Amino acid sequence: MQQDCIFCKIAAKTIPVNTVYEDEYLIAFPDIKPAAPVHLLVIPKKHIDNILEAAPEDTALLGHILATIPKIATIAGLAEDGFRTVINTKDNGGQTVYHLHFHILGGKFMTWPPG
Ligand code: 5GP
Repeated sequence: MQQDCIFCKIAAKTIPVNTVYEDEYLIAFPDIKPAAPVHLLVIPKKHIDNILEAAPEDTALLGHILATIPKIATIAGLAEDGFRTVINTKDNGGQTVYHLHFHILGGKFMTWPPG
């Protein structure tokens, strides 16, 4: 838990969210400012600033998150039509919250490349 980290507070339940899925290692909840009809965030409960800061001992955690995203997307009703998973990293990647998170976006057809 890192002080002043909004996502650590969400993971610790200090800030309540509508949890879509949760297990020992991660929590998934709706983005406060959705960029698609369905926009979820998946965060590890452990604080990691971003993917650049993930350590070798986080490899299993990262694999677990990736392996769980299809389950979360299915719960959110996105399995049939598909969805997009995004990890923004630092300024050029558009990262605004420095606690690793995976965006799940769906519910509409999305174009490529992103802006
Ligand atoms: P980033 O730009 O860092 O990849 O994504 C951060 C995301 O977190 C943004 O889409 C933003 O809307 C979302 N966000 C920021 N603060 C909160 C919050 O307090 N609650 C929720 N649910 N989402 C947040």
